[in-house]
Amino acid sequence: MKVILISRKHGGSRSLELGRWSRALLSLCCLGLPLGMVALGYFVGQESQARDLRDNSLDSLQDELATQSTELEDLRLEAERKLQAMTLSLAELQARMTRLDALGEHLTAMADLQDGEFDFSQPPAVGGPLAADFSVEYLAPDLTGELEHFAERLTEREQQLEILESLLTHRKLDEEAWVSGRPVEKGWVSSGFGVRADPFSGKRSAHYGIDYAGKAGSNVIAVAGGVVTFSGNDRNGYGMMVEVSHGDGLVTRYAHNQSNLVEPGDLVRKGQPIALMGSSGRATGPHVHFEVYKHGRPVDPSSYVRRTRR
Ligand SMILES: [Zn+2]
Repeated sequence: MKVILISRKHGGSRSLELGRWSRALLSLCCLGLPLGMVALGYFVGQESQARDLRDNSLDSLQDELATQSTELEDLRLEAERKLQAMTLSLAELQARMTRLDALGEHLTAMADLQDGEFDFSQPPAVGGPLAADFSVEYLAPDLTGELEHFAERLTEREQQLEILESLLTHRKLDEEAWVSGRPVEKGWVSSGFGVRADPFSGKRSAHYGIDYAGKAGSNVIAVAGGVVTFSGNDRNGYGMMVEVSHGDGLVTRYAHNQSNLVEPGDLVRKGQPIALMGSSGRATGPHVHFEVYKHGRPVDPSSYVRRTRR
C-alpha cells in the first residue's frame, strides 16, 4: 500500500510505502477508535446506571432507617411513659403502706398490745392468698420485683389489721357485755342487798337486790349489753320487770317499772334505757329493784356496780 502526502504550502508531495504492520496499525486506528468510543460510552452508561441504582437503594435504606428510628423513639417514649406510670403507682403503694403502718401502730396502741403480738415491722404469722399479680413483663425486673414485694407487704398489713380489728371488735363486745355501773342515770341507793326488815310486813327477810330510788318516769338503763329474756308484768311482786341475759351465766333484772321500753328478744346495749322508773308491784315508791344472777343464783349487785374494767 502506498500513501501520498501532499503539502499545501509548497505543493510538493511525498509518498509513503506502508508495510503490513503499518497497515494493520492504520486500520486499527480507523476502526478501533470508534469502537473504543462506543465501548467506553457503554461502560460509562453502565457505570452511571449502577450509581443511580446504588443511590436509589441507599435512599430507601436511609428512609427505612429513619422509619425504624422513629419507631424506636416511639417505643422508647412508650416505655418511659409506662415506667413513669409504674413509678407513680409504686409511690402510691408506698404511701398506702405508710398510712397502713401508722394506722396499725395507732390501733396497736389503742388495743394495749405491747407484747409484740402486732409488731408492724414483722410479717404476721398467718397464711393467706397470694398478692395480686402484677403483669408488667416489659419493665425492669427490679421495679417489678419491688412492686410485687409491696403488694405482698400490703396484703400482710391488711391481714394484721383484719385480725386487730376483729380483736378490738370482740373486746368491745366483751366490754359491752361487762356488767358494771348503776341501772339508773340519776338516783340513790334506798336499800341494799341482804337481810332486812320487809317494808310491808316489817319481818326480817332476804332482799336479793339493790333498790335505787329516783324520780318516777326517769330512765332505767341496762348495765351491760345483752338480750332481753323477759319484759312484762310479774305477779310475784316485781311488777313491771325487764330481765336481760348478758351471756357467761349473768342475768340482770330491773323491777317495779312504770313501763318497759323493750321486748323479749331485743338486743340492748350498755347504758340503753330499757324501762321508766315506777312503783309497780310490791313497792312503796318509785324505785328500781336491781338484781344480778350468776348461774341462776342471786348475787350482791354492789360488786358489779362498783367494778371497773379489769
Ligand atoms: Zn328491792
